Amino acid sequence: MPLDFEVKCEDAHFSGDIILKKRNLAQLNGTITGSISLPCDLCAETVKKELNEEIVFYLSDGIAHGNDNELDVVEIENSTIDMDELLASELELIRSDYFCCSNCEGTSLEREF
Ligand SMILES: [Zn+2]
Repeated sequence: MPLDFEVKCEDAHFSGDIILKKRNLAQLNGTITGSISLPCDLCAETVKKELNEEIVFYLSDGIAHGNDNELDVVEIENSTIDMDELLASELELIRSDYFCCSNCEGTSLEREF
């Protein structure tokens, strides 16, 4: 039985389900929707960015599984999944990506980041 989850952080919603694959390995399929406020990298104006991010990764309880480098494995402790923290770190990733507002879009093609 998949375990449904839904968490919110500011205006972002993270929902999906978690399926146990093996005893110590679960697969999480989620979608982040809603929006976050973040500053434009060019003009620094804060704008809302619409979110529609598909997230798939694996949750491992304890022991690392060899060299499963192709898997995006997040280790969890005591079989507890902190979805709020997961969402917070995903939003952190989105914030760290290059982003420019619609006013600046297309004006920076020659710049490298
Ligand atoms: Zn801008």
